[in-house]
Amino acid sequence: MADYDYDVLVIGAGPGGYVAAIRAAQLGLKTACAEGRETLGGTCLNVGCIPSKAMLHASEYYDAAANGAMEKMGIKVKPQLDLDTMHGQRKDAVKGLTGGIEFLFKKNKVDWLKGYAKFTSADTVVLRQAQDGTEKSVRAKNIIIATGSSVTPLPGVEVDNDKQVIVDSTGALELAKVPEHMVVIGGGVIGLELGSVWRRLGAKVTCVEFLDQILPGMDGDVRKEANKIFKKQGIEFKLKTKVTKAEVKGRKAVLTLEPAAGGDAEMLEADVVLVSIGRRPNTDGLALDKAGLATNQRGQIEVDHDFRTAVDGIWAIGDVVPGPMLAHKAEDEGIACAENIAGLTGIVNHDVIPSVVYTMPEIAGVGLTEEAAKEKGEVKVGKFPMLANSRAKTNHEPDGFVKVIADAKTDRVLGVWCIASVAGTMIAQAAQAMEFGATSEDIAYTCHAHPTHSEAIKEAAMAVTGKPIHI
Ligand code: FAD
Ligand code: NAD
Repeated sequence: MADYDYDVLVIGAGPGGYVAAIRAAQLGLKTACAEGRETLGGTCLNVGCIPSKAMLHASEYYDAAANGAMEKMGIKVKPQLDLDTMHGQRKDAVKGLTGGIEFLFKKNKVDWLKGYAKFTSADTVVLRQAQDGTEKSVRAKNIIIATGSSVTPLPGVEVDNDKQVIVDSTGALELAKVPEHMVVIGGGVIGLELGSVWRRLGAKVTCVEFLDQILPGMDGDVRKEANKIFKKQGIEFKLKTKVTKAEVKGRKAVLTLEPAAGGDAEMLEADVVLVSIGRRPNTDGLALDKAGLATNQRGQIEVDHDFRTAVDGIWAIGDVVPGPMLAHKAEDEGIACAENIAGLTGIVNHDVIPSVVYTMPEIAGVGLTEEAAKEKGEVKVGKFPMLANSRAKTNHEPDGFVKVIADAKTDRVLGVWCIASVAGTMIAQAAQAMEFGATSEDIAYTCHAHPTHSEAIKEAAMAVTGKPIHI
């Protein structure tokens, strides 16, 4: 240790990095975390999961008041939007949570090193302070790269968050007024979540998606049903369409749209355009070559099952490595990686990582889609509509279903998919059951509290090999 500054240096304080740093310190390792931003928490806490959920939560209340959902339950209200206050509570949530990580760093004796890190060799980085450009060299026995990801740019459509005409997700969280017409490029998670926020607050929203269906990677039935629900809510979809150019004219943008397969172009005017076509790993500026590392074709850093890179002593986790770009995946990898560095056995089961779209209703899944499961062998599928779930029906939340996919021979659950108001919460039990190798029968014979939305998971499991009761 004598000539090392730290046992572990983590680069990046997002959910991957800050969790890895805390776990390493808890395990008795002398730990520092370098972060280029002025606050801890990475994309997730500053401009991602948390602020988007703050806007989704608040706009859901507004929508319920504006669209008659409250009136149906005997509450007559005429909502008045105070967007500044809505933004204020978003900022408060971010401030509270990022400050919380600062507190946890102090509590666990993790040194927060401010500045952007760049390798000078396999065990040394220099930290460059954004404010004054001063540099400091830090040497560590183990270095964890947790630099996360940023927005994938779309050629011809230049983002300028300050102007608030063509924005990325960070800009779309900050809009000073509700757009009249918002065009969302990309029918993925960000487009649907942030498109929903501004649709609920009064914008007309058009979503342009390159593929023939929204939400790629999700179960086919779920994608179709979600599309129907969002259409019913008023989002207009232009599927199999790509945006090839955007011109800003004053406070408006004029977009050129072309059929994905080629053909005549059409023009579309918008006062806000959200570019949400995916994210790419952050490795620029790290000088990976100085450490003897390279990225793969997708710009990611390859790791083995223990999160070791090709260079001894350098590890990588989170959005910068292959796999879904999700905060909880990054966190679990952070814990496992720190445990492996400490000589323990840290494992992440990448087959059981839930994913959730926090719209209303929520859309959640874990494990294989029906399509992927069928490619691997014979399956049995059980489905149950939320319309037949007593709690959802009582709460006026009829949309959605639960689908359980099991191996036809062993009955082992391979995947669970839900569209329901609280699908994000419901999916946890499916992930836990799958982690324990549950069969559909195990879920069907587990007592579920009544009346809960989760009973729909039990009934869908009952439908795999037999019959549900309530349909
Ligand atoms: P990040 O959170 O990106 O953190 C990396 C950190 O490293 C950053 O703070 C960056 O400043 C720092 N950094 C980069 N390079 C350097 C360097 N050279 N030196 C020092 N520091 C550096 N996921 C979910 O699971 N649920 C959600 O609800 C959800 N919502 C999202 C909403 C939006 C709008 C967005 C954009 C993303 C959302 N995500 C969500 C994805 C989630 O934010 C990411 O998967 C997660 O933050 C990845 O964690 P990470 O630690 O790998 O990287
Ligand atoms: P995404 O990959 O979810 O969706 C991008 C969509 O854009 C895809 O449907 C793709 O087909 C489409 N697309 C790509 N190029 C296009 C083009 N030129 N024209 C039209 N459509 C095009 O990406 P995202 O929504 O930007 O989100 C990025 C990442 O952030 C995701 O990986 C996601 O995991 C993460 N995220 C997660 C959550 C959550 O967990 N709730 C929320 C937000 C973001």
